[in-house]
Amino acid sequence: MRPVETLILGIGDAFTRLHFGASAALRAPAPGGGGVVLIDCPDPIHRVLHEAGEKAGGPWRNLRAEAVTDILLTHLHGDHSNGLESFAFYHGVLRVQAEKNGTPPLPKPRLWTSVFSAERLWQKLAPAMSGSLGRTLDAFFEVRLLHPGQTADVAGLKVESRVTTHPLHCLGFVIRHPDGSSLGWSGDAGYEPAHVEWLDRADVVVHEANHPPAHSDIKELMKLPEAIQKKLRLIHLPDGFDAAAFGFHALKEGEIIS
Ligand SMILES: [Zn+2]
Repeated sequence: MRPVETLILGIGDAFTRLHFGASAALRAPAPGGGGVVLIDCPDPIHRVLHEAGEKAGGPWRNLRAEAVTDILLTHLHGDHSNGLESFAFYHGVLRVQAEKNGTPPLPKPRLWTSVFSAERLWQKLAPAMSGSLGRTLDAFFEVRLLHPGQTADVAGLKVESRVTTHPLHCLGFVIRHPDGSSLGWSGDAGYEPAHVEWLDRADVVVHEANHPPAHSDIKELMKLPEAIQKKLRLIHLPDGFDAAAFGFHALKEGEIIS
């Protein structure tokens, strides 16, 4: 029983003054390997990747956007998606440079999300992004749809998704590595016992906690069976919130879940 190797990039909520938006990087097992799968893409994504990579050290050092092959996007709230513009421009510029230099370009990054988010994402990005590098979302990303209840192969990781209770359509994930490790990721979610039960199939669960009803009340999480509480690692907390006082482990930026 162990979690998929996961580097926590950001732990903050939408109003954080101290942190980055809740997000993570996972090692992809895909053949050819070395790729990184992001869960969500907050601003300022290049600094978010760099700081977490330097804090974690070892193989995560010098973590840059070009290492990212896939992004799992939970939903369109800005604290989870505002880094997509700069991420996509960066990859676009690298492709133009590769063409000029006659070197093989990096594959277009894959963006995995719900039909709901995929249909609306370009409306959000286009006013700032539509231009010489591209005029459609497909120019910047290979868009792949996640269908709740189905399993997708994301760079060798098996990913199931579930729609959460949140003011905006949002997905949670159960992610399985071929080596048998697994990770649950709640996404932004009002407290919902059925969602926790669904996530409980994973060895470790990253769960959000913040002000209800848009988010999960930590006092509700405290009522869960002890075996489930032990699996939970909390994220998306208000700045300075002392989760340890409630008996929970709050994640840190640059922490590797183990
Ligand atoms: Zn949200």
